Amino acid sequence: MGCGISVAIMENVKLEYIWLDGYQPEPNMRGKTTIITVEDALNVKLEDCSEWSFDGSSTQQAEGDTSDCILKPVSIYSDSARHNGYVVLCEVLDSEGNIHPSNTRSTWDDDEDMWIAFEQEFFLMKFGKPLGFPKKGEPAPQGPYYCSVGADIAQGREIIEEHLDICLDAGIGITGVNAEVAIGQWEFQCFAKGAKQACDDLWAARYFLCRTAEAHGLSIEFHPKPVKGDWNGSGMHANFSNSEIREAGDQEIIEAICEKFRPVHDEHIAVYGSHNNQRLTGKHETQSIDTFSYGVSDRGASIRIPLATVINGWKGYLEDRRPASNADPYKIGGRILETLRS
Ligand code: MG
Repeated sequence: MGCGISVAIMENVKLEYIWLDGYQPEPNMRGKTTIITVEDALNVKLEDCSEWSFDGSSTQQAEGDTSDCILKPVSIYSDSARHNGYVVLCEVLDSEGNIHPSNTRSTWDDDEDMWIAFEQEFFLMKFGKPLGFPKKGEPAPQGPYYCSVGADIAQGREIIEEHLDICLDAGIGITGVNAEVAIGQWEFQCFAKGAKQACDDLWAARYFLCRTAEAHGLSIEFHPKPVKGDWNGSGMHANFSNSEIREAGDQEIIEAICEKFRPVHDEHIAVYGSHNNQRLTGKHETQSIDTFSYGVSDRGASIRIPLATVINGWKGYLEDRRPASNADPYKIGGRILETLRS
């Protein structure tokens, strides 16, 4: 029957281009959809995603008379919550094709030898309050909520589960999730080898989280201290290593690396998220924002040397406990790399 000519069946694919806007001190995520047609909807690659533009005058990234900004795709994730869907993470260029000032990803050179695991804490919010807060007053004090189970104390698990599956389907290295100390507060951990990969993955995971919550009529609060009073704030501990830390094998080498961070403490704090002073108080397992310290197994230190690193013969990773939940991971990753390179 056949005449030797095969006709490819083209399929529609939805690409959600996401980027960071120009708001200060922290950017918001923006996204919009374009449709492309391809032969294999299950195998769309970054090369298939062309540059696109958006109205920068609506995102605090341009004036009205030169409003076009350019989206340059840098990473692609499959989006299992959307039929034939992908999320395309982009850098922003100005109308001339130059790096836009809001483009924090492009301000430093990548290091594939650096591995980072972010511990992203956040609150699920409804009507401006953490999920589980009554209309008036406050729920029972902190104590039972951390790693809890049961509808009266664990709030919003269906969103956490849905987000977890979407991230794993997308190839994002989520290594765990847990309910946190305050009611409605949760955490996911996100690991990747390669500094920019780790930061890209965290932004994509945040995007998926906000969209999943939206589908349930909720929003995500990344502020490091959204509820005043005796309620835990949210942080974003950054666990990091390079070959030197992974293979040190010597207390002196590890401590010398920690010492590099002492004279640049203020420079780190400056990019570790706004309102972080409300969280880094010296209480609730934090060091004070004005003080730099490090120590083995010390959760009250700025940098913790995990006991596992010591037991493993001073080989492993370090935990920078200072970053706030709202910090831009590109700024954190870039700053840690700069200090390690110094
Ligand atoms: Mg935590």
